Parts: sequence; structure tokens; C-alpha cells
Amino acid sequence: RFISFEGIDGSGKSTQARRLAAHLEGLGHSVVLTREPGGSPGAEDIRALVLEGEPDRWSPETELLLFTAARRDHLERTIRPALEAGQIVICDRFADSTRMYQGLRRAGLRVLVDQLHDLMIGQEPDLTVLIDMDPETGLARALSRNGGEERFESFGNDLQAKMRAGFLDLAAEFPDRFVTIDGARAMDDVTADVTARVTEWLA
Ligand code: C5P
Repeated sequence: RFISFEGIDGSGKSTQARRLAAHLEGLGHSVVLTREPGGSPGAEDIRALVLEGEPDRWSPETELLLFTAARRDHLERTIRPALEAGQIVICDRFADSTRMYQGLRRAGLRVLVDQLHDLMIGQEPDLTVLIDMDPETGLARALSRNGGEERFESFGNDLQAKMRAGFLDLAAEFPDRFVTIDGARAMDDVTADVTARVTEWLA
């Protein structure tokens, strides 16, 4: 089974993904915890190319191709082998992040995102946990993090608000696989909610 976590920057999804992985391992499941962009050696190299260069190094289209190449490698080398071995894959971000981050970067790009996805990826998670949070809370949490993302600084609150609304729209677009969790609560309460929803889904 393939579970992804999505949400705006600072939503706490990485922490929740890690905690869910530990919980499921404690129950005796074999779990692979992975992330995007990255998750395989080649995709981690592409992550560095995209996230560590100057912000305008790539055009939105080229950036989309790089993210798609990274995802393809991640799928071939990490995700599919794990699924075939019967492991649970928990992925911190997947194609929904590209639908948002790259799809919203320029008007009309979402069409290209979907075309490339159909052509080169063609895989959706079985379950997507959306950690929903208002952008002000997410921004404050992200900026208070040690070594916070430099890229993030350029993301105004407007964009975060657009992202949040976009993720909620995606949850409505794919109701069969999305579970939306209120992330603006104490971390342990969010974890309890995520654990309960995923356990119920796995049963
Ligand atoms: O999830 P994580 O914090 O590792 O993501 C790092 C950054 O990569 C995010 O802040 C986001 O700006 C960027 N990103 C992106 N497009 C994606 C996924 C992530 O621009 N598809």
C-alpha cells in the first residue's frame, strides 16, 4: 500500500509521516519512509539541482520536467520495488505537490502537469493524508524551523493561501483517496487523528 502526505510548507506533514511510519513498524508492518523531491539517489541529486540553485535558474516548464524525472526515478528505484515486496510505502509529498507547486506556478501549467503525469508516472497513492492548516500558522512554524527552506522565504502568504485552497480542491477532486486532517492543533492530537484514520483504512 502506498500512502502519501501532503500539505503546505510548515504544516507538519513530515513529522506526521515519520510518526506514522514508526507506529506502523511498531505494529509489525514493514514500512519504507521516503520523500519527494528525492527518495532515490538520482532523485536526490535532482532535488539538489532544483532546490539549491538560484530560484530562477529553471523556467517553470524545465522545473516541471526535472520534478517529473525525479519522480520517475523514485518510482522505479524505490517505490515500485517496495510495493512489489509487500511493504507499506509512506511518501512525504508525491504528485499532488507537483499539481500544486508546479501547476500553480504559471497559468495553464496544470494541464502540462497532468499530461506528463499520465505519460511518465501514471501512479497515484492509495491514500493521501492532507494535513490542512491556515497559512499564517504554517508560515510561523516553517520560519521557526532550524535552517528553514530559503526557497520558502520567497513564497508570500498569498501563495500559501492559494496552495491551501488548491490542496482542498484536490481533496475534492480525488475524494476516494484523500483524508483531510486539521493540522492546526497540538502535534500529538494530529498524530492521534492520523493514526486512527490510517489504521481504520488499513483494516
Ligand atoms: O517538503 P519539503 O519541505 O522537503 O519541500 C521542500 C521545498 O520544495 C518546499 O518548500 C517547496 O517549496 C518545494 N517543492 C516544490 N515543488 C514540489 C515539491 C516541493 O517546489 N513538487
